[in-house]
Amino acid sequence: MKLRTFSGGIHPPTFKEFTATKPIKEFPLPSQVVLPLLQHTGAPLSPLVKKGDRVRRGQKIADVEAFIAAPLHAPLAGTVVRIEDSFHPLLGKFPALTIENDGSGEEERKDPLYGIESKDPAFLREWIREGGMVGLGGAAFPTHVKVSPPSGKKIDSFILNGAECEPYLTCDYRVMIERPSAILTGLRVLVRACGAERAFIGIEENKIEAIEGFDKLVKDLPFPTQVVPLLTKYPQGSEKQLIVAILGREVPPGGLPLDVGVIVNNVQTAWAVGRMAEEGLPLIERVITLSGECLKNPENLQVPLGTVLSDLVDFCGGWVEAPKKVVMGGPMMGVAQTSLQVPVVKGTSGFVFLSNLYEKKEYPCIRCRRCIDACPMRLFPTTLGKFSEYQAFDEARNHRVLDCMECGACSYVCPSNISLTHLIRLAKAEVMRRSRGGEINE
Ligand code: SF4
Ligand code: SF4
Repeated sequence: MKLRTFSGGIHPPTFKEFTATKPIKEFPLPSQVVLPLLQHTGAPLSPLVKKGDRVRRGQKIADVEAFIAAPLHAPLAGTVVRIEDSFHPLLGKFPALTIENDGSGEEERKDPLYGIESKDPAFLREWIREGGMVGLGGAAFPTHVKVSPPSGKKIDSFILNGAECEPYLTCDYRVMIERPSAILTGLRVLVRACGAERAFIGIEENKIEAIEGFDKLVKDLPFPTQVVPLLTKYPQGSEKQLIVAILGREVPPGGLPLDVGVIVNNVQTAWAVGRMAEEGLPLIERVITLSGECLKNPENLQVPLGTVLSDLVDFCGGWVEAPKKVVMGGPMMGVAQTSLQVPVVKGTSGFVFLSNLYEKKEYPCIRCRRCIDACPMRLFPTTLGKFSEYQAFDEARNHRVLDCMECGACSYVCPSNISLTHLIRLAKAEVMRRSRGGEINE
């Protein structure tokens, strides 16, 4: 099997053995869900319901007129009991709707979507928006925006991202081997919506069952589709690295995949779209991984959005030992959590419970270049780190600091334990702040 990849990158232990063989379990509907009014990249939503209103499962409960936004739907039937600031896994606190489950199970479903290939792409993009679809790989960018190339930009290739390169996470893998048919239905909708001529499904070679399963199924699709086995390497699931690996095309600095005629979506996004096409359910649930050495029973769970982390920990049997660090997402790019009261949001791919803080004594740079060799964006992390330390932000900008995707590969390989990613993140934030204020020389 010929394996494609990109230059740079690292090979951290995958730790996927905790959950890779665990079938997806459906998490029972909780007694209440907490739904922040911002779960996507874009404009915050306004509630369409008020305290005391009864809602049905699948009912749209929040929306906004902005183009870059995705509406929110009720994951269960019940009563809106609160609209107030609540824990948010990325934003600290944010206004959220709390719905108390009334056990009635009342639902509101859309009609199934027939004749996908004869549908007008503009109709499909609006249909995707109405389903509240966002990228489920973590970025939560609204899917209808992603499949709307601006005029003058032709999309020839659609890539389904099944790399799942973050350690511990196996939710995409389980969805690929347990729900392949709905993923391919979603792929048909997405390809039709953006006008691509062909599709690729990129999967790391440590997920052989998924590769073999899709290989058999893609022959029946109405457009050419190739399953592409990828080398298991971090960050293979990053969009730009996936495009290089599969098509050999480089997204220009500051550019987007559509600048090279490509759209990339995560396999779970396609599953959610396919599920809405087949069953009429908008995005109200997703599959997540709960893993890490501190958790008694690591699992892959299909959970209603808004489920609170403490309920999930209880479901997994609690701790083997109290975690020193809880991360939403994987340990490389995930976000540390300070409360078990955070809810699952659309961009939650999982929670990892770690016994080690991985904080090590820092030493001076020995100029070994390992960080440079590891950087998938071909940056000079050691130089950018120094610019950050000395607050040389014009220089950092000139050395493409904004192209850093904060993958953490440079910090991971540094034998001197220098927190390069942290330093670069600070420089990026400052460059962006000054650019907005017009303080950096163009
Ligand atoms: S965090 Fe940024 S600088 Fe470091 S390896 Fe990743 S892309 Fe390169
Ligand atoms: S990996 Fe660390 S020690 Fe080596 S050049 Fe980069 S910053 Fe210096």
